[in-house]
Amino acid sequence: MTRYIDVSDVRKLVTSIGAETFITTMADYIRADYLRWNEFEKSARVANHVPGGVIELMPTSDSTLYGFKYVNGHPKNTHVNMLTVMAFGVLAEVESGFPVLFSEFTIMTALRTAATSALVAKALARPDARSMALIGNGAQSEFQVLAFKAILGVNEVRVFDIDPAATDKLIRNLAGFKDLKIVRAASAAEAVRGADIVTTATADKTNATILTPDMIEPGMHINAVGGDCPGKTELHADVLRGARVIVEFEPQTRIEGDIQQLPADFPVVELWRVLSGEVAGRQDAAQVTVFDSVGFALEDFSALRYLRDVTDARNIGEHIELIPAPLDPKNLYQFVVPATAAATATTTATAASVATSTAQQPVALTA
Ligand code: NAD
Repeated sequence: MTRYIDVSDVRKLVTSIGAETFITTMADYIRADYLRWNEFEKSARVANHVPGGVIELMPTSDSTLYGFKYVNGHPKNTHVNMLTVMAFGVLAEVESGFPVLFSEFTIMTALRTAATSALVAKALARPDARSMALIGNGAQSEFQVLAFKAILGVNEVRVFDIDPAATDKLIRNLAGFKDLKIVRAASAAEAVRGADIVTTATADKTNATILTPDMIEPGMHINAVGGDCPGKTELHADVLRGARVIVEFEPQTRIEGDIQQLPADFPVVELWRVLSGEVAGRQDAAQVTVFDSVGFALEDFSALRYLRDVTDARNIGEHIELIPAPLDPKNLYQFVVPATAAATATTTATAASVATSTAQQPVALTA
């Protein structure tokens, strides 16, 4: 049976564990997987570009597990009250190909993106960085704030969005965090001024220039989350030219990241090399660092792995019959005849087969 995790299961999990602890533990899983980079089979995600958006499949595997995520990006969806980014994910055993986990991954994507952003910033931002500008206050935004608060100790966030209602929502959602100062800015430039870290999480399928060179100050770390698709960028090319740029998986980021604006030989550093200590992240306190984040399959793999471990330990979710499990694996046909006929056709209607058919019923687990 496959463990099925839906939105309410993830809600139960995150609220019982606590979002900050959940993100921090997930960041540890992501880090652990980046540290064994060479054990993974990697490819740029498969992206189907459609009018107004993109639909993507993101697979990767190691020697024991295979994971993939289905995810879209449709910036105009919010105009019809739908999420910009929606996802589900699957984790399977490599040995048999059996899918052990099938899960909602929209909320999980926001959690894993925030965990990755903060993990990278921990390696790249100045150690004393405590303030962050956050441009784009949509679905990902609160997750980003909580990750930076939990992992870097960020305690001041300057927020801006062209949609004032999005900023209202962020301020409302984070009002309970008394150790967090949220400052509303009148423009992106005002938000960025004096910030140690700048996160851009805007959604628009265009070559936008959310950050221009005149806004960048020495020593800033830029966490550019929203430029993640061909023709969809957030940084002026000169911001990249003046910075040390870290990417997840170079072949994918060359196509999808903000560096798509630059020649193919523009120097970038892959994250795993920084996390492993093979190369330095930030080289001096005045250097500007950029994480040109697009989201890589490895991060979803780590998030799926964490979800499997934590839902197994807490027995959360439902066991569903996603894959038929016939007693005779060559007799798939029994599943397309009426149940009674199938039973008659099974000449060995033994206690064992009865037990198997019982095992195939969905089993509700306690949460
Ligand atoms: P969303 O649509 O919920 O929010 C985006 C916000 O950006 C909106 O509130 C919008 O008003 C604002 N915005 C658009 N243009 C702006 C501008 N010029 N200045 C200021 N604000 C602006 O989307 P979301 O789910 O929060 O995702 C944000 C972005 O992050 C999307 O582009 C998405 O594709 C990307 N994303 C990246 C990753 C990753 O791993 N890198 C993961 C998830 C989402």
